[in-house]
Amino acid sequence: MNKDLRCLRCGAKMEDMGTENFQLGKTGFFLGDLPNLISGAMKLSVYRCPACGKVEFFSFEPFDEDCEDRIAQITCPRCKQKHDMDYPKCPHCGYRY
Ligand SMILES: [Zn+2]
Ligand SMILES: [Zn+2]
Repeated sequence: MNKDLRCLRCGAKMEDMGTENFQLGKTGFFLGDLPNLISGAMKLSVYRCPACGKVEFFSFEPFDEDCEDRIAQITCPRCKQKHDMDYPKCPHCGYRY
């Protein structure tokens, strides 16, 4: 991720501080009652303004991508491709269970 970011406050070029992992389960702040659905951490890119010290966070991995990982997957016994377990048949080859 290589953004040329300008500080919203003073217009100086912001420094890329790299990515930080923020533990989601510990805080429960973002997710309320659903801490177990998303375990582990969310990666955020951290940018800091060297002039005024303003820090901004940018989501490194959109939540929508995480959603795909959370849906349970099964492997089709015929074509060996993975698909979501709530399909009544394999979306790749049409195999019915
Ligand atoms: Zn600034
Ligand atoms: Zn299949």
